[in-house]
Amino acid sequence: MHSALIATSDFTAASLAVAKGAVPVLLLALFWGWESWQPFFGCRPARFQHAAHNLAIALFNALILGLVFGFATAAVTAWTSANQLGLLNALDLAGPVRFLLALVLLDGWMYLWHRANHAIPILWRFHRMHHSDTRMDVTTATRFHLGEHVGASLLRLGLIPLLGFELWNLVAYDALVIAVTQFHHADISIGRADRWLRLFIVTPFMHKVHHSDWRPETDSNYATILSIWDRLAGTFQFRSDSRTLVFGLPVFGEPQWQTWWGMLKTPFAANVSRLPTEPGVQSPT
Ligand SMILES: [Zn+2]
Ligand SMILES: [Zn+2]
Repeated sequence: MHSALIATSDFTAASLAVAKGAVPVLLLALFWGWESWQPFFGCRPARFQHAAHNLAIALFNALILGLVFGFATAAVTAWTSANQLGLLNALDLAGPVRFLLALVLLDGWMYLWHRANHAIPILWRFHRMHHSDTRMDVTTATRFHLGEHVGASLLRLGLIPLLGFELWNLVAYDALVIAVTQFHHADISIGRADRWLRLFIVTPFMHKVHHSDWRPETDSNYATILSIWDRLAGTFQFRSDSRTLVFGLPVFGEPQWQTWWGMLKTPFAANVSRLPTEPGVQSPT
């Protein structure tokens, strides 16, 4: 590889690492404070222990993914730009339009990837770890199995030259994903504003339905940032009273599945029937 390309890749990989490290920590502090000040479901027992388990998973993922995919992402985007590969490079668009289109394409891809995680049994084995959290709060936003992240990261490396993404597109999109996913997983309510905001982005009341223990609700509201994907695909669902929702997967609700090691083992458990046929009715408070 050309030395200038390596130097650029080193610089951009370092920037990526800083951005990916600072944004989640600052937002986590913000939403944790909001949950403490005005929780929707209220303080739960063992809140710190629950957070510690989810954040241990997040730290483990960040270390492995940063080491494996940080440089690879910078190198593939540099190669894509140098050779002007992909859809966005083929279109003659003004800078801001191109940037917005890149964000929309990445979000559309995330919708498809999330749907695939629910529809394809081998992917669901990994994704079910995100859904096995019985006490959803801001730390649930970081609770994804390493295997799911590796699958998403590998596919995205292939998508970069196909669609022509630049590194800063990915950095900006990832920062937005962190901001919006922490917001819609947090144990908070924005009251009536949720109704208007969910016309545009995924809100706490919209994403809570996705964590229901009832499969018809779990298999809905797949969007990450823009809620329009669920509206276009007919997968948008809503419960008028979010307080009646029960979170988690009954089979993985036992404490043994909520530890760091239990979460890592979740994909390899027996392939049990997914969810009960009746919606949960008791309040999770
Ligand atoms: Zn899901
Ligand atoms: Zn979620």
